[in-house]
Amino acid sequence: MSVDHGSGNVNSALTGANDIGEWITPPVSYVDPARRFCKFCGRPIARRFWLAKTAGGGTFCDPAHAALFTTYPRSSDE
Ligand SMILES: [Zn+2]
Repeated sequence: MSVDHGSGNVNSALTGANDIGEWITPPVSYVDPARRFCKFCGRPIARRFWLAKTAGGGTFCDPAHAALFTTYPRSSDE
């Protein structure tokens, strides 16, 4: 018998990275010329942003917005 303590998937949400994306915190020591906006809601991203691995990638202000962007029914006529 073996006691598996601490090696299980306790809470993957706190690791900061998973299958759908990861949190990116750019260094603040330099001015980043690239302005980032949330791909879903369009809000400017000041510091940390969510780099999505779904929906063809992109930056989001929150993983929830990335999920919404992925699952959102696109009503555009394309
Ligand atoms: Zn957003």
